[in-house]
Amino acid sequence: MDRAGLDEVLKRPTVWVCPGLLPAFSVSIHPMVAQLLLGHSRFKSEYFPAEEELFARLAGGVHEPLAMVISCCDARVVPDVIVNSQPGDLFGLRNIAALVPKFGAGHHRAVGAAIEYAIHGLKIEHMVVCGHTHCGGLRALAQGPVKLAAHMPSLAEWLGDAEQVLAHIRPMLAGVDDEELIDHLAYESVPLQLENLLSYPAVTWALSRGRLQLHGWVYDLSSGGLHGYVPEDNAFVPLDSAGRRSIVMPEPRLRELKRE
Ligand SMILES: [Zn+2]
Repeated sequence: MDRAGLDEVLKRPTVWVCPGLLPAFSVSIHPMVAQLLLGHSRFKSEYFPAEEELFARLAGGVHEPLAMVISCCDARVVPDVIVNSQPGDLFGLRNIAALVPKFGAGHHRAVGAAIEYAIHGLKIEHMVVCGHTHCGGLRALAQGPVKLAAHMPSLAEWLGDAEQVLAHIRPMLAGVDDEELIDHLAYESVPLQLENLLSYPAVTWALSRGRLQLHGWVYDLSSGGLHGYVPEDNAFVPLDSAGRRSIVMPEPRLRELKRE
C-alpha cells in the first residue's frame, strides 16, 4: 500500500459514535479508539494533576529508572502494574516471549540498543527478565515456528532463536499437556535469557564493576504472583512477602536434569 492508499484508509469512516461521548471529536471514531481516548481523558484530568510534581520532574529531564524490565508484548502482562510503579520507574523493553537473543545477531539490534543505553546512558543497576505463564509466544514456539513462516516470517525467525529452550526441556516433558509444557517453558526460558544477557559487552562490563544485578522473574497470570530465579538453587521461589505459594517451580526434577 502506498501513501495515498494509506491516507484513503485513514479517512474511511468506520463507525459513528455518539458525539456527546467525546465532545472534542466531531469526526467518526471507532468505539475501541473512543475507549482509549476516554481513558486518556481520565488520565489527563485525574492522574496527571494528582502527580503534578512527578510529571514536572520527568518533563524537566529527570530519567532515572529504578530498573530495566525485559518482558513480553502480551497485553495481560504490564510490568508497571505488576510492581505498582510510577512513570519514570521502569525502563522497559517488550518483545514476543521476553527473549534476549545473544549479542551479535544483527537483526536484533533493538534489544542490544536498549540494553546498552540502560547501562551506559541511564546507569541502571538492576535488569529484570520477566517471563510469564500462558505465554502465546511460547505456545507458538511449542507448536513449531516453521508453521508461522508463511504469514508471520519475522515472528517465525524471532521464535527460532528460542528453540534452544524448547529443545532443552521437551525430552523431559514427554506426556504433559500443552499448557503445562508452555508454563514449564516460561520458567526454563528466563534463566537462559539471563545467560544470553552475559553475551552483551555492556552487561559484562557493568557486572565486572559491581554496577549491575540481573534478576529473573516469572509472572503467574492465574495468581498475579511473581516467582524469582535463585541461581544458587537453580530454582524459582515466590517473591511475595506472604509466601503463600511455597512451591518451588519448576519441578526440582527438571532443574536437576538441567545441571547434568
Ligand atoms: Zn508472552
